[in-house]
Amino acid sequence: MENTFKTPIHQIYGIENWGNGYFDVNALGHLVVKPKRGAQAVDVFQVVEEVRKRHRLHPPILLRFPQILETQVKQLCEAFQSAIAEFQYGNTYQGVFPIKVNHRRDVVEELMRVGNKYRLGLEVGSKPELYIGLGLEQAPGSLLVCNGFKDDEFMEMAFWGQRTGKQVVIVVEQIREIYSYVKWAEATGLRPIVGLRGRLYSKGSGKWEESGGETSKFGLSTLELLECFRVLREANMLPALRMLHFHIGSQITDIRKIKSAVKEASRVYAKFRRMKAPIEYLNVGGGLGVDYDGSRTPSDSSVNYTIQEFANDVVYTVREICEHEDVPTPTLVSESGRALTVYHSVVVFTAENRGDFILGAKAEVAQRAQSPALTEMREISREISVKNFREYFHDAIQQREELFSLFDLGYLGLEERAYGEVLFKEICEKALRFAKETKFTSDEFEILEKALRKKYVTNMSVFQSVPDSFTIRQLFPVLPIHRLDEFPSEYGMLIDLTCDSDGKIDNFVDVKDIKEVLELHPTSNGGPYYLAICLVGAYQDVMGDFHNLFGTVNEAHVIVDEGGTSHIRNLIRGNTIEEVAGLNGYDPEDLISKLAARVAEQTRLGQLDSEEGMAILEAYRRRAGAQTYLSLSEGRVRADGKELSPGEGGSSAETGTSQGPLAAKESPGA
Ligand SMILES: *Cc1c(COP(=O)(O)O)cnc(C)c1O
Repeated sequence: MENTFKTPIHQIYGIENWGNGYFDVNALGHLVVKPKRGAQAVDVFQVVEEVRKRHRLHPPILLRFPQILETQVKQLCEAFQSAIAEFQYGNTYQGVFPIKVNHRRDVVEELMRVGNKYRLGLEVGSKPELYIGLGLEQAPGSLLVCNGFKDDEFMEMAFWGQRTGKQVVIVVEQIREIYSYVKWAEATGLRPIVGLRGRLYSKGSGKWEESGGETSKFGLSTLELLECFRVLREANMLPALRMLHFHIGSQITDIRKIKSAVKEASRVYAKFRRMKAPIEYLNVGGGLGVDYDGSRTPSDSSVNYTIQEFANDVVYTVREICEHEDVPTPTLVSESGRALTVYHSVVVFTAENRGDFILGAKAEVAQRAQSPALTEMREISREISVKNFREYFHDAIQQREELFSLFDLGYLGLEERAYGEVLFKEICEKALRFAKETKFTSDEFEILEKALRKKYVTNMSVFQSVPDSFTIRQLFPVLPIHRLDEFPSEYGMLIDLTCDSDGKIDNFVDVKDIKEVLELHPTSNGGPYYLAICLVGAYQDVMGDFHNLFGTVNEAHVIVDEGGTSHIRNLIRGNTIEEVAGLNGYDPEDLISKLAARVAEQTRLGQLDSEEGMAILEAYRRRAGAQTYLSLSEGRVRADGKELSPGEGGSSAETGTSQGPLAAKESPGA
């Protein structure tokens, strides 16, 4: 039986607030994913362990749940269908998926497959995206919407699409594109649909507010819209003018902004209709937002509306204005990408709090540091209590100053200084605990909490796996995938593997506020500690960069069958060392021949024994095929990503796990 949030541990992470019905915790204290929001659940911890043990692919690993894509497509399209029925709209809805939100082939093909019965189409904004769109299969009657700035080559490709039987929409974003359209249309005799991207007075809200509004980078002013109309009419191509498009930005946090934009766009549509422009489609763009923190507010990482409310407002508003203007209602199109994909992937990685491992060292300095200057500190640490913690904490601050001035004057040794630091930290931790117990808050204790949060070193790159967390400080839900039946007694933040001070996560979702600490478990009990960042399926998956050359992570696609059994399919290996080097112009053969020349030189000079030199070269070559992230366990994977059969070993240098030719000499101490 599933434990449905009976204990407060689950509430700590707010799963029920941001999970949209896809996430839960089972009786084992493991995070589960329910791709159909039904009883069938995937135990995330078990999947990660199985992939690690059976297939020898280690975290960091991205888990994709394609069935979530299906559930989301269904939810969006049915929301519009039900709004259309409720408000007797008299026309239909058909979405397009903006491919920039997640270009991955598996994702796009799955969306096209499950979206077939809803005539879900595609939206592209560049030549490579159009290249993909031209090749892919999509539902009959679905649209291929071409946004973005277009040169002649782009325009020509779009016409190929029309010629090869796709229903192409060329959305004019700048005035020169209408002249280019007319030129290609005359030359080919084809008439793909023309869409006009209008620049609205209404702006969005949230981080992408500037994508809309009069000063936006995108779209045509009212005068330019009229010019396009005139150009098409003069060229006898007015019948092609079949779409009006606008997009006021992504992640619109406030439903009122959507309403006012739709209202304005509907007016523009209606006025064009009255001028005898045969516009059939009103494309309301993207912007359907996601509640990343579960707060249901118009704050940056949240939204104050549901998909159903979005659909209702669009349908109702357009109908009202069409009625008022006495024009037919248009087919509604939206380019909702974030909402379709965001829930379907989760990235899992190991985390370790290094502080846990120096307890022995602490006992040793405590034994030896016997200076009288420390007596007072020791006493405070022993006697601080819920009654006196504020006063004792202030005393400790004073004592610490004294200790440091004694050290400056040369009266204390390093061990005394070390022990003083340890004692002070202990006092701070106790004081903070008492403050929490008594619900006492003050600026001082908030700063203390931030200062004391433990640094969990994570085996991942923020820049690769959650770039928006760094670039725009967007919040993502982070939580352990196991031990969710055990109280998380530590307060921590995450730091990643990159040599970059921005490579960290120190803001976490909270219903009322933003947390600067995350409740985590101690990691000293052996066994890996796994964390997940959820809701990374939109943009994060494909916008990551190669900071420090970590590159892509391993990937597994997981589905659950009717009986509730999980199946892992499509394992994809993350980047290898030589791949990421190669992307930057390095040729493995060139690198190795230069290294070989140095080995030869050192051997000639008698600095290096020739056998060892050969061994280094051999291992260097093999390690090039290993993965880029920290290799924290014993599994092995061949360079081609296939798993090794037992006994098929080779040196463990292949994975970089440990022993290379120098292992015997340089023992790093486990
Ligand atoms: C980015 C973009 C979208 C996708 O927006 P979401 O907020 O992800 O739904 C749609 N249309 C255009 C023109 C875009 O630039």
